Amino acid sequence: MTKLPVRVRFAPSPTGPLHAGGVRTALYNYLFARQQGGQMLLRIEDTDQTRFVPGAEAYILEALEWLGITIDEGPQTGGPHAPYRQSERKEMYREYAERLVNEGKAYYAFDTAEELDAMRKRLEAAKVAAVQYNAITRQEMTNSLTITAEETKARLESGEPYVIRMKIMPKEDIRFNDLIRGWVVVHSSQIDDKVLLKSDGMPTYHLANIVDDHLMGITHVIRGEEWLPSAPLHVLLYRYLGWENTMPKFAHLPLLLKPDGNGKLSKRDADLGGFPIFPLQWTDPVTGDIAKGFREEGYSPEATTNFLALLGWNAGTEQELFNMEQLIEAFSFERVHKAGARFDIQKANWFNQQYLKLQDDASIVAQLKPLYAAEGILVTDEQLIQIVHLLKDRVHFVKEIVKESLFLFSAPVEYDQDVVIKKWNEEAVRAITGFKDSLVAFDGNFVADQIKAALSASMEAQGVKMGKIMQALRLAVTGAGAGPDLMVIMEILGKEEVINRLTISLDRLPAQIHLA
Ligand code: GLU
Repeated sequence: MTKLPVRVRFAPSPTGPLHAGGVRTALYNYLFARQQGGQMLLRIEDTDQTRFVPGAEAYILEALEWLGITIDEGPQTGGPHAPYRQSERKEMYREYAERLVNEGKAYYAFDTAEELDAMRKRLEAAKVAAVQYNAITRQEMTNSLTITAEETKARLESGEPYVIRMKIMPKEDIRFNDLIRGWVVVHSSQIDDKVLLKSDGMPTYHLANIVDDHLMGITHVIRGEEWLPSAPLHVLLYRYLGWENTMPKFAHLPLLLKPDGNGKLSKRDADLGGFPIFPLQWTDPVTGDIAKGFREEGYSPEATTNFLALLGWNAGTEQELFNMEQLIEAFSFERVHKAGARFDIQKANWFNQQYLKLQDDASIVAQLKPLYAAEGILVTDEQLIQIVHLLKDRVHFVKEIVKESLFLFSAPVEYDQDVVIKKWNEEAVRAITGFKDSLVAFDGNFVADQIKAALSASMEAQGVKMGKIMQALRLAVTGAGAGPDLMVIMEILGKEEVINRLTISLDRLPAQIHLA
């Protein structure tokens, strides 16, 4: 048997923004396709018109693009199996449903909503365990198996609403080997006679999904664990349609769990925790509610991708940082876990920090410019580079650099009171006054190491240990008791501004004198 070229698909329904689990599904599909030299297609599964949300498809495309997940075929890209939106393929599915009816593997059902409801109540009252339309219950319902062929024909011709149901044969074993979960075995008595074609003429998800995967030559179905219960039905559909030989392999990915590991991750967890679970920000078109996005919160696409890739997979080594190329190389189904993956936003922050450190200065400067402009702060490229050097290793996000650097643009108004009480003593005031005077006379190059030399000379001349006044000096320059390298801060501020700040602080903080 020749090996088919790998073809995978990402098949979201446009019912809202794509959440982290969906993005991870897309990512694993992409990694596998690229690793195998295969193709990945995007198929929009929009047969449930009641759940259609405007803007969702555009959102999905934008999210994939932002993350660097490129697709080979899809609604925008086109391809040999177009159209890639199921609603535009509506007419194709009926043929297969009708073929199954003609072969005795499916049937027309004319039951009204009230009749179905009555059946449900009857079964519940009789305490039947599986309340469903199946080999037993179908015998009491109105379908082409219980009424005559003439009556069926007459009903169809009169335009009476109907659905096509799959005729699940009892006593069949359904088994398939999931690439992640191993053998899955289910008995057909556990499956109900699923609707394949709805009364509006649209296929259900099950029919459309199987027909399309077959027609589009899909070799591997990689999707979330929530679809595992549907997989046996899908295997049966392949069997009934005579496509078992080319049935794709299945890989069901682990669930994403709440940050504490208890239960499935939900949007509510994100709202409560104040963190994003969507790649991009999403505004609900009906309620106007805004859901946070990784992009808008300041995560880089590289960090987001790396974080998502490690939710449920690892390389089996200590390595955690993987760019897309490395992920493509390292990915394997054997190393995808069966157990759910905890969604730990701290880890995402850590990844963002790692990628921030790897970015070159010019790229960070470019991202910072509009942020400073938005704060109404004028800053030169040269200053920006200095600021980046000062703060890059201390933050998780580019936008934090702005916040953390605000003290550079105005002299302190408030002072950390703990430090004032502990460190702003007579000795410090005297020593800092001495240092300020020495700066007035300073005519060297006002750069960090020279400033440090000047400071140490001044302290030595005054007989004060530098370590004893450093926090007080920082307080006088910045208002805070801790922060990045003070010598570099003074270099960025420049001599005049340092003298100015020391004068102001010595003036504002005279009274808090405590004995050394
Ligand atoms: N349309 C389904 C979804 O929204 C696709 C499931 C599958 O990949 O088979 O997730």
